[in-house]
Amino acid sequence: RLVVSGLSRAFGGAPVVDDVSLEVAAGQVTCLLGPSGCGKSTTLRMIAGVDRPDRGSIRIDGRLICDTTTFTPPEARSVGLMFQDFALFPHLTVAQNVAFGLGTDRAARQRRVEELLERVNLSGYGPKHPHQLSGGEQQRVALARALAPRPRVMLMDEPFSGLDNRLRDGIRDTTLEVLKEEGTAVVLVTHEPDEAMRMADEIALMRGGRIVQRGAPYNIYNKPVDKAAAAFFSDIN
Ligand code: ATP
Ligand code: MG
Repeated sequence: RLVVSGLSRAFGGAPVVDDVSLEVAAGQVTCLLGPSGCGKSTTLRMIAGVDRPDRGSIRIDGRLICDTTTFTPPEARSVGLMFQDFALFPHLTVAQNVAFGLGTDRAARQRRVEELLERVNLSGYGPKHPHQLSGGEQQRVALARALAPRPRVMLMDEPFSGLDNRLRDGIRDTTLEVLKEEGTAVVLVTHEPDEAMRMADEIALMRGGRIVQRGAPYNIYNKPVDKAAAAFFSDIN
């Protein structure tokens, strides 16, 4: 379970993330949804531990990993990351990519790699190199790699935006399925309402650094908090 409380961050005096609070249970997906520049990636970066908030706190499974006096480094937070341009290591095989963050027990590594490749429907792809894979296949390897060390929280920043439309739906479904099986708490950043509608258990609608509305996708879609929220959802198909 991820609990973010009162997270704030300003750059040069301008607030970019302003008092953001979130709770994401294991196996649940919260989408941070909002227009370009509203502070989605900055929020994610603070949860990941690559940026530090000015105020607020972050807890994962009850453990305080960040507040004004505490700062756990990214690699000790039990968070997995997936970004649009988060490339695989080109010189490593698929199996080596997935095993990258794992411990030294060879048999355990191999078991985990096989299990994950099977889950993302890429059994038998272990010996291949990334350049031999399609964009969608590479993305599924990236998911397997991010999940390999069993992070409690998965942070995804527009992970599907580089893929073409035909592939996207299938990969979204596979991704959701695997994340649910693993029981990972997920924060998915997107500026596309239809992606949030499709993937989220809860949507946190952001504007100008603040969460202006939080709720189940259809509640937000049917009862937008104001005209701007309604307009944001209006071009959904
Ligand atoms: P997009 O959908 O375009 O990715 P976003 O919601 O992810 O947008 P952020 O990347 O969080 O937006 O940026 C929010 C605002 O904060 C932007 O105006 C950006 O220019 C500013 N900002 C982000 N990081 C920094 C930084 N390190 N220094 C100064 N300004 C920053
Ligand atoms: Mg962004």
